[in-house]
Amino acid sequence: MASDATPAEPRHSRIAVIGAGFGGIAAGLRLRRAGHEDFVIFDRGTDVGGTWRDNTYPGCACDVPSHMYSLSFMPNPGWTRSFSGQAEIWEYLRRCARDLRPRLRLGHEVRGAVWQAGRWLIETSRGAYTADFLVAASGPLSAPVVPDLPGLSSFAGPAFHSAQWDHDLDLRGRSVAVIGTGASAVQFVPRIAPTVSSLSLFQRTAPWVVPRRDRSFSARELRAFTQVPVLRRLARAGVYWGRELAALGFLHPPMMRLAERTARRHLTTSIADPDLRRALTPAYRMGCKRVLLSDDFYPALTRPNVALVTSPIASVTPTGLVTSDGREHRADTIIFGTGFQVTDPPLAAVIRGADGRTLAETWDGSMRAYLGSGVSGFPNLFLLLGPNTGLGHTSVVFMIECQLDHLLRLLSHIDAAGGGAWEPTPTAQAGYVDSVDRRMAGTVWQSGGCHSWYQDRNGRVSALWPGHTWSYWLRTRRFTPAAYRRSPSHDRPTPTEVIA
Ligand code: NAP
Repeated sequence: MASDATPAEPRHSRIAVIGAGFGGIAAGLRLRRAGHEDFVIFDRGTDVGGTWRDNTYPGCACDVPSHMYSLSFMPNPGWTRSFSGQAEIWEYLRRCARDLRPRLRLGHEVRGAVWQAGRWLIETSRGAYTADFLVAASGPLSAPVVPDLPGLSSFAGPAFHSAQWDHDLDLRGRSVAVIGTGASAVQFVPRIAPTVSSLSLFQRTAPWVVPRRDRSFSARELRAFTQVPVLRRLARAGVYWGRELAALGFLHPPMMRLAERTARRHLTTSIADPDLRRALTPAYRMGCKRVLLSDDFYPALTRPNVALVTSPIASVTPTGLVTSDGREHRADTIIFGTGFQVTDPPLAAVIRGADGRTLAETWDGSMRAYLGSGVSGFPNLFLLLGPNTGLGHTSVVFMIECQLDHLLRLLSHIDAAGGGAWEPTPTAQAGYVDSVDRRMAGTVWQSGGCHSWYQDRNGRVSALWPGHTWSYWLRTRRFTPAAYRRSPSHDRPTPTEVIA
């Protein structure tokens, strides 16, 4: 999909969506189906797909089964495997976005959005736009984090993040240092290990890893999914309820002992060396950090050219990394599998509400929103996959759909009330956030004894939904008019300043 040229006027639309990943595409499709035609979708990239466009590292795939990791209203009977790869998911998203093309504003990076004179003034890399409603769908995993290691700028070789893979670099024969053992690293380490001359894997915290059991669908299954849609729906329902059952362990941590046994067996049968096994044994309750699915990660670590390094990284030199035990690990390439900026999203620093403060300033380190989407003081703003809507056990696409159902109900409510600017009441938001925090307290994400990217700098788990996804569905399904109010800023005089 080629980049759109800067559109001709008008520069105002009723709804502006930021991001053309899973959330933005789903928003566009649902808005159209509900009869809302006046919207645009901005994306900084030259194509749609978000995280599935950007993450092209070897082995990149989804760890939620394909039939569940897709939009319920855009089924794909043709998924070739139980866990789809990046290319297939990206292609699916491009197909979903085909009819949205006239509304896509690709190559438009949103640099700021300010609520001003009863509408959103949006500054993009290709000029300013305005909209009555702003839907932020920039995704929680869109800003890669590279740790600020002492001496990193002195490193003589290439260094890149897994979400910005350097495909021009031939890794054959190179000495590679990989930093991180999260969901991305466990996928690309087994792929590059046979190619490189040596691989030092720097692990800060051992992850829990369970067997993946991926397989391709047979021709017969594919035919059945296409010709008998009920079978595809049954497959999706099976995954959904299986995952909801598994959620019990995350909500009642002692139950995780059962799953830990499976993971330990996986470790024992894969790794014979007791020292390596010890180094790979996690010291926190399973589920506290994302549970990883892999059949080839442990075997890759037994290769003679692969070394697991568990001493903390002290510094980087032109020719490698030095750990706190004083050892130098020579490398000519560094690959960061060090994750994303989740609980302090970059967009929050540039969205400015009715009182002139940014979302980041308002949140002060802990993202908070009514139903994970509306924020008091930010009229006509709707966050997709906002605070406390991420998941540790199943598909976030389900959450996106729940949020969009709610957005459409909210838009109908606003239309029936004669339009204007609306926001959650401070009381509704505070009550909702309290209930989320109370439910979070007993979960493995809060009490599992780990430090994870689900937790923000105040120690609050603000990235995840603390329950079954059907309970979020019930919450978002019930529209409570009293939870919203006309924004007090609505009738304020027009400010004269524009975006700084
Ligand atoms: P991640 O899960 O945040 O893992 C980052 C890794 O880097 C962790 O092992 C972390 O160690 C380590 N790390 C970070 N800073 C470090 C430092 N300064 N020194 C040493 N180690 C450091 O990131 P990710 O693997 O990119 O995955 C992010 C998320 O993307 C996943 O949790 C998942 O939600 C999603 N994802 C999904 C799939 C999928 O199949 N659906 C695939 C890939 C990614 P600590 O554990 O000690 O913090």
